[in-house]
This record gives sequence, structure tokens and C-alpha cells, in this order.
Amino acid sequence: MKIYNTLTHQKEELVPLEDNHIKMYVCGPTVYDFFHIGNARPFITYDTLRRYLEHSGYKVTYVQNFTDIDDKVIKRAQEEGTTIGELSDRMIKEYFKDADALNIKRADIYPRATEYIDAIIDLVKLLEEKGFAYTSSDGVYFEIAKNPNYGKLSGKNIDDLLAGASERVASKEDKKSPLDFVLWKFKKEGEPFWPSPWGEGRPGWHIECSAMTRATLGDTIDLHCGGVDLVFPHHENEIAQSECATGKKFVRYWMHNGFINIDKEKMSKSKGNFFLVRDLTKQYEPMVLRFFMLQAQYRMPINFEKELLDAAVVSWNRITTCLDNLEHVAKSAPETDATEVAKNAVQELERAVIVAEEKWNRGLADDLNTADAIAAIFDLVRAANIATSVPGISSKALLKAQDKLLELLSVLGLDPTRSEKNSVPAEIIELVERRQTAKKEKDFALADSLRDEITAAGFKVEDTPQGPKVSAL
Ligand SMILES: [Zn+2]
Repeated sequence: MKIYNTLTHQKEELVPLEDNHIKMYVCGPTVYDFFHIGNARPFITYDTLRRYLEHSGYKVTYVQNFTDIDDKVIKRAQEEGTTIGELSDRMIKEYFKDADALNIKRADIYPRATEYIDAIIDLVKLLEEKGFAYTSSDGVYFEIAKNPNYGKLSGKNIDDLLAGASERVASKEDKKSPLDFVLWKFKKEGEPFWPSPWGEGRPGWHIECSAMTRATLGDTIDLHCGGVDLVFPHHENEIAQSECATGKKFVRYWMHNGFINIDKEKMSKSKGNFFLVRDLTKQYEPMVLRFFMLQAQYRMPINFEKELLDAAVVSWNRITTCLDNLEHVAKSAPETDATEVAKNAVQELERAVIVAEEKWNRGLADDLNTADAIAAIFDLVRAANIATSVPGISSKALLKAQDKLLELLSVLGLDPTRSEKNSVPAEIIELVERRQTAKKEKDFALADSLRDEITAAGFKVEDTPQGPKVSAL
């Protein structure tokens, strides 16, 4: 598989450091609120990557942190009159509700910054011993001037950064350079703190991820992933800290996903143009949201507008309807192909399955092009729809196509069984069966009134040559 590496600006063959084992770290949420659609994109993207790598035979160790100590967490806890521990415990539970709904697999490890204070202190100590850190009046800082490689991920140049920084208001901290970033912040009144060799305080954000990566996966990892907004300064600073502390390469492949724009404008919490996943899933099925995101290759920006989401509902329904149809037709289909026409149709379908899977695989192997993978799924949907209309086609061929469709979807984390549209309650099925009996007994008045009952319950029943087909309205 090829992956676009932000560090080298090119697609590279993904070769893990250890045989078949991929170690990946994804920057996780700051747990002070529900997560929004912009946060959801990296979670969905890298979950899909993990599923594809596992499908391709790799063992994946997947780590995603929770940032449970930072200015936003402290501020929100103070506003709510609670502790950061209680707030983050609660928000992590809420995180899992939304992540589970989006069918995001659980990570192997979810490090929380407050549980890795010792690892953070160890890393800062290493940086201090090697001369990369110094203490100022309000904290311990990383000295950028000591690191000639600074800027290698973001392509930023220290002189340009300095020119930009000097235009801003002179900083009140006594840092050696305005670019130096904090590793350990000294205690402020009313804020949580931990003891350290430099005095009581709390870690800076960047060092948390460096330390948690090292503590869970080791000095060198294969993949480090996040949104493109994390390239600078977060990931640039992570590289600086980790590589200066250990003297080893930190990350072999850096992956960054594109932004989400809301009605063509950059999403921002301060502008108020953002959507929480929790609110969106009241209007759209979580599987539709996931499908919508994966329709774009992960590095492309996504434009989030109602019309496009509604179009995704229709497209997703084409897939679920096809699956329903395959199952439904297969129920009453013969075991072997009844006619010459049916035999030819099966051959066509089998060929379509192979071609679609190849296209799907080519897409995903090329820098996780989920847009191409979904196009391949629709090729298969079209072929399957044609096959279901051929009289006498065998159930075996139809069910094989259904299995393949489900498999290709499941690697993308798309699970049609989670679609509410597909779940027809037992009492509705009973009504449908009673209506069938009434029709057989030529009691059309009863059959009609049962149909009305089914419609009133929000379902429709269609009579097809293979029998009644029921679906949500
Ligand atoms: Zn991070």
C-alpha cells in the first residue's frame, strides 16, 4: 500500500519497521465537549485505514490519546464547578457513544495525559540533560535554536517564523526565543498540578503526545496521524521533542487529513459554524455520515452542506436496497441456475464481482482512496441489480455477490445492518405474513386493511414475483 507522507511530500510504499506489525498513533480529542464533524473526519479516516491494513494481513497496534488536561478542559471544569477528572470521564463516555455509532473500532490503547505524567517528566528530563530545554519564570521550554531540523515536517523556516512572531505583541514570558514552546507549565492559582523536578505544574500539550507515543509504542513508530491543522505547530513540535530526546527517528510516515468546510467556509468553533456529531445523528443515520465522509479521498477538503448530505442518503439507500433485494430474491431462487440466460447472468455477475474487488483494492492501496473504493462498490451494486431481475438465477450466485458487497463495505466500516431502514420489526413482519394469508384466501378487504396498518406503522409492502418485500417508508 502507498501512503502520502507529509514529511517527504510523496506517496511511499508503507513498509512497517517490524515484519508485519504496524504501530500507529492518532491524535485524539480534547475531552471537554462532544466532538464535532471536523473531529470525526480523522477518527473515521484512520479507523478505515486500520481496517484496511488488518484486512490486508497486518497486525495493527492502534493508539489514540485523550487530552484530558489543557486550558479548555480546565476552563470548562471551572465553569461547571466540577473537577477535570469528572468532566473528562463524562466526556470520554460521550465520545464512545458517538464513536460507536459511527462504527469506529476501539483503539488498543487510549492513553490519557494525566495518567502519563511520569513518562512526560522522563522525556522533559532527557531534553534537559541533552541541552534542549531550559527553565524560565513560568515553565520549562524547548529551545528551538538548538534543533537545526526544526521545520522539517511543516516546511517552515525559523527566520520566517521569527519575523512573523516579532510582529505580534512581545510575549511576557522570559523565553530565549518567541518560538520556544512550553514543555512544563508552572502551577497557576486554581489549576490542577503535579509535582516535578522543576516544581509543581502541568505538562504542555505537545509533550503529552510525544510521551504517550513513546510510552505505548516505543521510540520509533510507523504511522502518526491527524488533521492537517496539526502539522504546525503540534506535530512539528512532537518531532523536535521526541527526536532530540531519543536521538532516533520518531515517525516513519506522517498522515494528515484535509479540512471540512461548512457551506464552503472553513469550519471554526469561534465562528459558530460547526456541527456536533451528536446533533447530526438525530437527522442522519451515523452510517450515512460515515459514508458521506468516505466519498472523498481523505486529503481532499470536504464541503459539508445539506444538499450533499441528502444526496449521500439516497446513494447509501441504493446500497442497502440492493443488499435487501439480493437477499429477498435469493430466498425464492432455485439452487442451481434454471436457464441458459440465468447461467450467462451468473457468469456476468461473477466477473463483475472480481473486477469490482480489484478496483476497490487498487483504490485503497493508493493512499486510501475511499472515493475509488466506493465507486467500485457501486459498480458491483449495478451488476447485482441486473442479476436480480434475471428469472431463474441461482440463489448461490446472488448470496455470493451479497457477501462480497458486505465484505467490501465492512472494511470501510460501513455496516448496513446498523441502518435503521433495514430493521423491520417482528410485529410488522407478522402483519405482512397475515396479509399474505389473507390474499391467498382471497380476503382482499382484510389484506387491504393489513396493508393500511403496515403503512401507518411507517413501512411499505411491495408485491414482487418473489413475494412481498417490506421496507421502511
Ligand atoms: Zn497529538
